[in-house]
Amino acid sequence: MKISRIAVYQVDLPMREGSYSWASQSFSAFDSTVIVIETDAGVTGVGEVCPLGPTYLPAYAEGARAGIAKLAPDLIGESPLELDRLNYRMDGLLKGHPYVKSAIDIACWDILGKAVDQPVYLLLGGLIQDSVKLFKVVGRADPAEMADKLDEYHALGFKQFQMKVGEDPAVDIERIRKVAARLAPGDILGADANTGWRQHAALRVVDAIGDLDVYIEQPCLTYEECLAVRRHTDRPIILDECMDSLQMLLRGYADGAMDLVNLKISRIGGLTRARQFRDLCISLGIVMTIEDSWGGEITTAAIAHLAHSTPRDFHFQSSAFHDYATVKIAEGGPVVDGGYMRASARPGLGVEPRMDVLGAPVFEVT
Ligand code: MG
Repeated sequence: MKISRIAVYQVDLPMREGSYSWASQSFSAFDSTVIVIETDAGVTGVGEVCPLGPTYLPAYAEGARAGIAKLAPDLIGESPLELDRLNYRMDGLLKGHPYVKSAIDIACWDILGKAVDQPVYLLLGGLIQDSVKLFKVVGRADPAEMADKLDEYHALGFKQFQMKVGEDPAVDIERIRKVAARLAPGDILGADANTGWRQHAALRVVDAIGDLDVYIEQPCLTYEECLAVRRHTDRPIILDECMDSLQMLLRGYADGAMDLVNLKISRIGGLTRARQFRDLCISLGIVMTIEDSWGGEITTAAIAHLAHSTPRDFHFQSSAFHDYATVKIAEGGPVVDGGYMRASARPGLGVEPRMDVLGAPVFEVT
């Protein structure tokens, strides 16, 4: 089986709640890129990459499309079934830019699943957990408004919450206290600064909320700042943005820098590399949030398949991004119910892109 056509689509994903704010950033919609890969055997795969705006990670939407345009002509004629070979080929054509390669890799996993008539989770290790625990994001807002969101999200069945902080430390302390006061028994709360605090500000916050049952996620931009915060607090620490390679994971493990990691599929370069990262975490005893930067039904399906094939003991939570958007880009996305989601059991990712929503391709290569 050979890749015969690559088509790339652009779609905006508007926020159902109007906007999404974290650290010092706020957006009303995210620019997503969908790739459809066709083969000479008539099997088609779909992938997606959606950076969270241009200043969250070293990734941006136009860059994803430019990178795919750079790679695509050389991938025509390649086998989509030999995932390690394909990734080796992509690394030989373009250094770095893992998020560019992620959508291509995901689409080829979709093709592989369809070729062997099995869902992707089976190929990633099997259906180890039959439902995937979700967290609900509580976007950065006024402290009282954020606390009120807990009531709304409780009613939807959510018990795990990731509140966005990383702005003014005094207000963030108030935010965390007010939200924590609304927790129900058994709830889990994380305060995610998304790199937003300077080290001194992070130390003020973790000191002031040291009596609360709350996880602290990626307090500062650099690994070294996060490590300093880690050594200052006994709250559990999740590292996210700085965990961009196996080397960083191993360094964090050796330093005892975190209790959990947040694994984002596109930051690592797709499902092939995310599986490697996931398996190493399990071997090291590190529990994971499994998600991505952002996306619609296709990204969320990839997340769900990886999470389904991860033992529950090692899976902290995931995000159902399509649940936050007003635009549906594919049929067959994971079904969200009561704070959990389930991926389709159909072959591949189990999603069918809505071509009426995606429109004409931005470009195509044959
Ligand atoms: Mg995070």
